[in-house]
Amino acid sequence: MAEHGHPPRHYYDASMLSVEEALERILGYMHVLEAEEKPILDAMEQVLVDDVVAARDIPPLDNSAMDGYALQAASVEDASEDHPVVLKVTGVVAAGELPDVRVGPGEAVRIMTGAPVPEGADTVIPFEETDELERRDSGLNLSEIAVKVAVDIGRDVRPAGQDARRGERVLERGSILRPSEVGVLAALGHSTVSVVRRPVVAILSTGDELLEPGDPYGVGGIYDSNSYSVAALVRRYGGIPNMLGIARDNLDSVNAKLREGLQSDILITSAGVSKGDYDMVKDVLTQHGEIDFWSVRMKPAKPLAFGVLTAQDGRQVPHLGLPGNPVSAMVAFEQFGRAAIYKMLGRTGYQKPRVQAILDEPIHNTDGRRVFARAVVTKEDGIYRARLTGAQGSNLLTSMARANGLAICPEDLSRKEAGEVVDVQMLDWPEEVF
Ligand code: AMP
Ligand code: MG
Repeated sequence: MAEHGHPPRHYYDASMLSVEEALERILGYMHVLEAEEKPILDAMEQVLVDDVVAARDIPPLDNSAMDGYALQAASVEDASEDHPVVLKVTGVVAAGELPDVRVGPGEAVRIMTGAPVPEGADTVIPFEETDELERRDSGLNLSEIAVKVAVDIGRDVRPAGQDARRGERVLERGSILRPSEVGVLAALGHSTVSVVRRPVVAILSTGDELLEPGDPYGVGGIYDSNSYSVAALVRRYGGIPNMLGIARDNLDSVNAKLREGLQSDILITSAGVSKGDYDMVKDVLTQHGEIDFWSVRMKPAKPLAFGVLTAQDGRQVPHLGLPGNPVSAMVAFEQFGRAAIYKMLGRTGYQKPRVQAILDEPIHNTDGRRVFARAVVTKEDGIYRARLTGAQGSNLLTSMARANGLAICPEDLSRKEAGEVVDVQMLDWPEEVF
């Protein structure tokens, strides 16, 4: 408990990195991956490699916004209720057809929504504003039509190139494909698109106590949850998990799994990084490259390993070593693993979305680390409130499942009081809250 009279806390223990310093070092080793060409729908959420330039106008031709008649506005400038102007109907044009008639003075062509406006016409009048219905009802043919109102020139004509001009850059390289971008690509006639490929992320859990979910329970065993929570996060943030399974706490076991791990774009391990325990993982990984073990000024997830391994073919593979405790592994992944994947994906914003909320109960900060407290954010009368999920032990994975955000107490505060405004990093963006 951070109370007065305690010896000064080691806020800035020089051996500890801040979250930002650790992130910067990690991102320094990550590179944007190569491009892949894929069907536009499969490229959702990936980053566009090239600008997309319209090869032709969209829409390609002037076309009608309504079902009605294409005409020259001048033909009906004197039309009124008392003196309707009668026009000669010289043809019909539907969407997908090219008009084969020219519209002259005193003439009209029946036209459907989206159909190209015939040459000579400058305006479309909706059929409701003609006497078409009356004519149909009284069995008259539609070789003529009467118009009872004058119209502004250009009305209900959608000009060619209104949506995009030929040669115009409509999508910018670096943008993320959302449904609207996928639609724009299709509208331009593209079936495939060049995007930054997704990283393959090898995931390895280490520990003699670990059991594979689905296997029978054995006394003393702990089911491996980290592989699954981390793989789920990898997927959520756009990577492709490559599950290596469980390595035991011995050199041979880790080495056997590493060979496959080094085929991937990044290796993420969990456990074996806390003091007194890390020697084995450290030895293995140091054999294969350069590994640093860090303390990061955060809670949970103080111990972290990061380095670069060299595969047999000389490929360099970054390695992120998460702590073993299930909450620590997830929280550390959210801070560092997510950003690493985003950088490889060519994304540029690495910060998780945050909201400011009123804290319902204090967050204690006993040793000058940045505390990420599991919290539930709700919205009441337009104001966000954050309540903690109870005990904050880094082994309590169900409290992560109850949370939708991480409420942050900065490293230089010994506590955040109830009623204070707190920054909350949102783990989810739940629709019932936003
Ligand atoms: P360690 O870093 O190996 O000391 O592990 C710290 C704690 O995390 C221990 O209680 C481990 O049993 C637990 N742990 C390690 N790996 C996993 C895992 N993959 N799934 C669930 N718990 C784990
Ligand atoms: Mg262990």
